[in-house]
Amino acid sequence: MTAPSLNPVALDRIEPPRLREPFLLTPGPLTTSFEVKQAMLRDWGSWDGDFRAMTQEMRDRLLAMLGKGAGDFDCVPMQGSGTFSVEAMLGSFVPRNGKVLVLVNGAYGQRSVETLKYLGRDHVVLDKGDYLPPRGAEVAKILEEDPAITHVVAIHCETSSGILNPVGEISRATYAAGRKLLIDSMSAFGAIALEAGEIRYEALVSSANKCIEGVPGFGFIIARISELAAARDNSHSLSLDVHAQWSHMNRTGQWRFTPPTHVVTAFLEALRCHDAEGGVAGRGARYLRNRDVLVAGMRELGFETLLANRWLSPIIVTFFCPADPKFEFERFYELMKNKGFIIYPGKLTIAESFRVGCIGQMDEHIMRSVVAAADQTLAEMGVSNAAPPAEALQERTKLDA
Ligand SMILES: *Cc1c(COP(=O)(O)O)cnc(C)c1O
Repeated sequence: MTAPSLNPVALDRIEPPRLREPFLLTPGPLTTSFEVKQAMLRDWGSWDGDFRAMTQEMRDRLLAMLGKGAGDFDCVPMQGSGTFSVEAMLGSFVPRNGKVLVLVNGAYGQRSVETLKYLGRDHVVLDKGDYLPPRGAEVAKILEEDPAITHVVAIHCETSSGILNPVGEISRATYAAGRKLLIDSMSAFGAIALEAGEIRYEALVSSANKCIEGVPGFGFIIARISELAAARDNSHSLSLDVHAQWSHMNRTGQWRFTPPTHVVTAFLEALRCHDAEGGVAGRGARYLRNRDVLVAGMRELGFETLLANRWLSPIIVTFFCPADPKFEFERFYELMKNKGFIIYPGKLTIAESFRVGCIGQMDEHIMRSVVAAADQTLAEMGVSNAAPPAEALQERTKLDA
């Protein structure tokens, strides 16, 4: 692979290009920088003042991404993968007698529904299938008809399709009806603005290994201080109690239970890189270029995206598998991997698909190499036309009308 890398010096320090680790075109874990990996080469005591200062710096940097209005919020890191933080948010902020409207258009929305079942919290679901966003007017109607609903849960970027949901209009509908919004911004936070002064919400969650480009090991909940204070005794879980973690951390500077120390030091380095790249705007702009180069190049090869242009996110893109019977996803995957690119299988009910992530330490040059590798792979497979089955496209057009 001859692609120039975003950080060629750093990558070459790891291993010669021939042996270079493949790029992870996956929405987390993702390709991290050399500096982020290097930051993990030291051990830290969790109770030590240095580590406590690092935890505080991390919380402050994350909060600053909310822009104006951040002063009403606090940031609570939580051990575990992103799902642990979603569960912590739902269990801590939805009171036991609350009722949730979950806006679903993919696997992560479904996961929130499943989580509420485990938690025994009453809920209703608006399920839009694979292709379509929940709209503000639909939310307004459901809230008007069901006054028992206290909270709305929205997925910012539904990573299973890559759709960017319209959280602004969802928020306006939620607060016009006097209810509260909780956002799973796992795969968007840090690259797509969610400014507290512009979009109202009570809490959001994200994790270390998505758009901030850290390694996996913890998530974080950013919530209104008034909600944090009111969350006492709501949680069903000792370890996932956001209120308890928050008050302990503010009192002692420490995490309640063993923190993923190395992951935190790597994340702090990732946050500094994020800042150096121009914060949320700079990071988002690079991902957008990645996506535009990827989508234009793949379309030139005949591939088509699941989503209409207006709903494509800069995070991850779903492509239909070609209709050509010579195309076989497992083979395509292996041949792409041999060229240095790990792609992601699709997660759709309706048509065969695969996904390519645009996040991580990659730039538009890498994305051009991804397209070139796909082109070469099609030729190796004997696929002359990457066009999807006509029915798949028709279905999409019908639904988006
Ligand atoms: C990644 C992700 C999660 C969390 O997944 P984990 O595997 O638990 O880290 C939750 N929601 C969305 C939208 C995601 O992209």
